[in-house]
Amino acid sequence: MEKKGTILMQKYELGRLLGQGTFAKVYHARNIKTGLSVAVKIIDKEKVMKVGLIDQIKREISVMSLVKHSNVVQLYEVMASKTKIYFAMEFVKGGELFNKVAKGRLKEDAARKYFQQLIAAVDFCHSRGVYHRDLKPENLLLDENGNLKVSDFGLSALHESRRQDGLLHTTCGTPAYVAPEVINKKGYDGEKADIWSCGVILFVLLAGYLPFHDTNLMDMYKKISRGEFKCPQWFPPEVKKLMSRILDPNPCTRMPLSKIMENSWFKKGFKQIAIPIPDLDGADWEEFESPRGVLDIHDVCKSDSEGIHQHKEEVITRTMKPTCLNAFDIISLSPGFDLSGLFIKDVNCKSEARFTTQMPPSMVVAKLEEIAAIDSFKVKKKDGMVKLQGNKGGRKGLLAIDAEIFEVTPSFHMVEVKKRAGDTMEYKKFCDQELRPSLKGIVWDWQDITNKELPRN
Ligand code: AMP
Repeated sequence: MEKKGTILMQKYELGRLLGQGTFAKVYHARNIKTGLSVAVKIIDKEKVMKVGLIDQIKREISVMSLVKHSNVVQLYEVMASKTKIYFAMEFVKGGELFNKVAKGRLKEDAARKYFQQLIAAVDFCHSRGVYHRDLKPENLLLDENGNLKVSDFGLSALHESRRQDGLLHTTCGTPAYVAPEVINKKGYDGEKADIWSCGVILFVLLAGYLPFHDTNLMDMYKKISRGEFKCPQWFPPEVKKLMSRILDPNPCTRMPLSKIMENSWFKKGFKQIAIPIPDLDGADWEEFESPRGVLDIHDVCKSDSEGIHQHKEEVITRTMKPTCLNAFDIISLSPGFDLSGLFIKDVNCKSEARFTTQMPPSMVVAKLEEIAAIDSFKVKKKDGMVKLQGNKGGRKGLLAIDAEIFEVTPSFHMVEVKKRAGDTMEYKKFCDQELRPSLKGIVWDWQDITNKELPRN
């Protein structure tokens, strides 16, 4: 049992218990050096191993690096000891959204705002191939500014029902927020299942009660399977229509996120996240990834002052790097928890690569200009540096790429290509589908700067 005041990993002082499940406990904690408040989720390795969930958790942690969004609880760091896995996460101060709803249904504008933020988070995660699979009240938190943060995105292996405290919380074993195809265990599409749960959540926000409810569990299952619900008379007609399109028991005809986001009721007052546009003149070519994510990698540190366990334990901790998180590399270093054979490669995107060429720089520049012209990228050249900038706003603003040419010998050059701004996935897509195939004729060899495998031409 972890005690208040315990210093974890010589770094976090544990505070009060925030929540608890079968595999995990969530504590408030404070970084003793910086004073930063965090939430620490402590997972019991042995329990996870016993039920054979390692594989899934490993996969899920590795994809969480792809999920950095203002409406998703940010994972800062993953640490491991012999018996535990620790997630240091963004601490979300305002409690659960549903504590608000428990006091009564929300006004239309407030419900819409939360729904918009939920959909924005879900859409972003889906674009990274990350599905929640268990969206429900416990996972919707509010920050101090009243903005919604979805917790546990990507950690579906750890999800479980654990509350029995009333209508708005998932009662143990009650599938109130779960899509019919998930209940029927037919095999399901994570994307469609998440959309269903968003629909139930919208209903609850506006109604103050669940759309599918019955004291008899079997009858409740039936209602969900048939999509049998009734909107209260105070729902605006557009919402009634939207509800029937989202709570469609057939996942194939259920409204997709793209259509929800085009819906006129949804769109009212919807604010997309403001993203800085990079300046092509190069004055401020900052990384536009979340600044929170830019952390150093610490050396492996051995600690015997963890204070939690009775005996000494070898503790391994590393801070994650934003674009190259490989939490399972870290966890696999932990004694008794070797996952190295299980790690899925290439989940993270590399944003730097270099190639060598026997072509003169003028030819490299001409080739890059040719590629830029096809995709309507703007081009700037200066002192062996070619800067490309996209003209279409992506998920994280305009894509900007730098290619720097270095002379190795007069007839042999090396070109370093890296993302300057924009979305890593969009960059990767551009590299894989446009840049690399187009450069094929002039590239002698590709190399990955981060020493991870890059797909070869
Ligand atoms: P979970 O096991 O993730 O469902 O967490 C259990 C409870 O801990 C949640 O219902 C929240 O009340 C609380 N909690 C989880 N994560 C955080 C966080 N990042 N910040 C604040 N509270 C949290």
